[in-house]
Amino acid sequence: MIYMDNAASTRPYDEAVDAFTEVSRSYYFNTASIHSEGRKAEKLLGASRRQILDLMDLGDYECVFTSGATESNNIAIQGVLETKKQFGRTVLLSEMEHPSVINVAEKMKHKGFNVEYIKTTESGIVDLDSLKYLLGNDVIFVTVMAVNNVTGSVQPVSEIVEILKSYPKVYFHVDATQAVGKVRMDYSGVDSLSLSAHKFHGVKGAGALIVKEVKSMSPITFGGGHEFNVRSGTVNLAAIAAMAKALRMSMESLEENRLRISRYNKSIREAVSKLPSVQVQPGGVPQIINVSYIGARGEIVVNALSQREIMVSTTSACASKLSSLNETLMAMNNSPDVVKGSIRISMGHFTNDQEADKLVSALNSVYKEIGGVLK
Ligand code: PMP
Repeated sequence: MIYMDNAASTRPYDEAVDAFTEVSRSYYFNTASIHSEGRKAEKLLGASRRQILDLMDLGDYECVFTSGATESNNIAIQGVLETKKQFGRTVLLSEMEHPSVINVAEKMKHKGFNVEYIKTTESGIVDLDSLKYLLGNDVIFVTVMAVNNVTGSVQPVSEIVEILKSYPKVYFHVDATQAVGKVRMDYSGVDSLSLSAHKFHGVKGAGALIVKEVKSMSPITFGGGHEFNVRSGTVNLAAIAAMAKALRMSMESLEENRLRISRYNKSIREAVSKLPSVQVQPGGVPQIINVSYIGARGEIVVNALSQREIMVSTTSACASKLSSLNETLMAMNNSPDVVKGSIRISMGHFTNDQEADKLVSALNSVYKEIGGVLK
């Protein structure tokens, strides 16, 4: 089986799985217990927190552990709007955000907030002129992802931090789920960012919300207040320790992976650019490529590749409340035929040369197989 759906989830590093089982076996105590074993577990939790902040170059931020980026995005949006609502009511977000951002923001409309969308350029980058245009007195919250999950485009996070310096009451949240482990970005100056361990070869069920000032947010669920009174519930120490390990390993191999996977990216782009009814989207990080078989349905292409033992995904599966067709591709001004025929190929640490070659020949043979429906 050739796995090319790493943007959906990655195979964990063996070392991360080992950390998970070892901590589950030996540190099963509750980190909130005050006996000596509980304190040992708490110490491991603290060490994982420190390591994650240092690896992210955000040593003076705080790390709130969550179950993953969906929860982190929910806390950031709902928790901050609750504390800032006396200063304004408008939220700005890019059209390309993940449903765990868009659907939460849309829900906040029922609580009296206004939601406005920052435009997207045709290359899939948030349009900074549109952001500047929308920034007004009532804006209290801006959220833009670091790397887009559909095309891999890298968003201008530092430029947005610069622009927002003139708007001190605006809080800036970044969904960094697809960036972490793929590209080094400067997050200094953002107010918070989300990440999910299973996107960088950790195990599922752990994530973080990294926050500049933890007092800036209210909890959205209530309980023992374990994580800085922002997130309650016994922490998943084993998955967190595995996440810290996976993050360190991802950072250590980031540059080597970037160079190697860039080669695969180039050969895939070259191969499909020779096929007349295929369109490739502008990209960003080398790991993610979005390809459309114009006239076909993405599901047909995914199934044809699956029959060849290659796992990729469609991009229409991630629909949010805004659109039944993928928002990112629509926002980039693609025609419905291009959006409907799109597939997402996403590579990771374990992708190798042979797999990339097999994918290239499979993309060609699928093209021949479904040729009749292509436009
Ligand atoms: N944001 C982005 C950009 C994503 O790609 C994903 C995962 N598809 C999420 C948030 C949500 O992550 P999780 O499912 O791990 O909560």
